[in-house]
Amino acid sequence: MQFTDEATGPGAASTVRRQGTAVQWPIKSEIMTSEPSRRGSGIVRALEKAARAKGAKILLKHKMTSIVRENPGSGRVLGITATAEGRAVRIEAKKGVLLATGGHTSNVAFRRMFDPRLTEEYQVAGEPYSRQPGDGELAAMAIGAVLWGTASQTVEAGAWLNKTAYIGCRWGYSSLHWPADSPIFDRIKATGLASVDWQNVILVNQSGRRFYNELATGHDFLNAALGYSGNSTRLNGGGPIWAIFDADAITRQKWDPRPPNVDPEYFFSADTIQELARAIANPYQTRPMPAAVLQDTVTRYNSFVDAGTDPDFKKPAPRYKIQKPPFYASWSTPILHDSLCGLRTNARAQVLDMQGQVIPGLYCAGESQGGFAQHGLGRAIVFGRIAGREAARSNGRT
Ligand SMILES: Cc1cc2nc3c(=O)[nH]c(=O)nc-3n(C[C@H](O)[C@H](O)[C@H](O)COP(=O)(O)OP(=O)(O)OC[C@H]3O[C@@H](n4cnc5c(N)ncnc54)[C@H](O)[C@@H]3O)c2cc1C
Repeated sequence: MQFTDEATGPGAASTVRRQGTAVQWPIKSEIMTSEPSRRGSGIVRALEKAARAKGAKILLKHKMTSIVRENPGSGRVLGITATAEGRAVRIEAKKGVLLATGGHTSNVAFRRMFDPRLTEEYQVAGEPYSRQPGDGELAAMAIGAVLWGTASQTVEAGAWLNKTAYIGCRWGYSSLHWPADSPIFDRIKATGLASVDWQNVILVNQSGRRFYNELATGHDFLNAALGYSGNSTRLNGGGPIWAIFDADAITRQKWDPRPPNVDPEYFFSADTIQELARAIANPYQTRPMPAAVLQDTVTRYNSFVDAGTDPDFKKPAPRYKIQKPPFYASWSTPILHDSLCGLRTNARAQVLDMQGQVIPGLYCAGESQGGFAQHGLGRAIVFGRIAGREAARSNGRT
């Protein structure tokens, strides 16, 4: 595998850090999406093969539930407790415990410690195939570990939140386009409408109001979607975001707005705009969208198309009126991606407590490790190797 130089790219790293080139995993049937790239599996399957060859035992269907330490707030880490298909098990650590449970973005209470706006409605990249539960951080905090650099989660240094790529479905992350024959399609439910030209739609919040230029993608757009921008004092969570469009948009986009392309819980249609607002029956739309407000929003936007300018949000040359029934509301709520905060460690990947003291026998790497705003596999692989090496060198006491 090679790391790519992002010094001039969107990540603007100061050195080569991000996973770039890796071998594609050759067995296509083991991949769950239609995404042609299989580089992630190209790394992980190769590591698995090497670990098994060295005698590593991989316990699937085991869930770590706690870390066992000599005393609740002091002493060495002795192992973990876990459940294995309902059975409680204890696993002793000969050298140490290395936490690599990934991020925390699926855990709503955990993610709201960093940002109270991140309520239940947001999608999480990777779900529902894999979750980011924050289990490692929670187990370590229960024995005295602390988080570090929590601002990294919110300082807008990385892509911790993304605009959705596929709309009208619950899961719309750009590199995960689920085909209907996916073995987990019963959980995915819909592939979503693809290749959205944001000129064809307006985006409204749960109150039926536009909030930003629909063509935008950056942090200002996402902050506005979260219900907060500029010097606003609202910090309560933004609620669902809906793309509103008409029959002409369907024709221009060549979409087929029926299941399994759309999910009936996340996609609605009606013959008038006001009926459309009333038709939205979604678990995250906690109060009805005011029909008169949505009507005003559409009428006002159509006047911007006539004028060729958008005085509200500066969408460049708004192109298409929303005027031909049926009208549609399609789920477009943003997606949480990276966990950019986790457990405090030192450079040897040893987990530290609030006093900066090493918790003997506890290591952490990957998205559950904190301290820097860094996307991706480079972070996991570099510190995973350091943590493994340090644990292997340990005499079991330090
Ligand atoms: C859709 C998507 C696309 C991405 N694309 C890229 C890319 O192109 N380049 C890049 O560099 N990065 C990419 N990333 C980011 C990258 O995949 C992650 O940063 C990386 O996988 C994190 O590795 P990790 O080992 O920390 O966690 P993970 O890979 O999330 O692994 C954590 C593992 O721990 C398990 N686990 C969690 N809790 C427990 C528990 N209690 N008991 C037992 N097991 C548990 C989980 O099931 C999981 O298997 C992408 C991420 C996503 C979701």
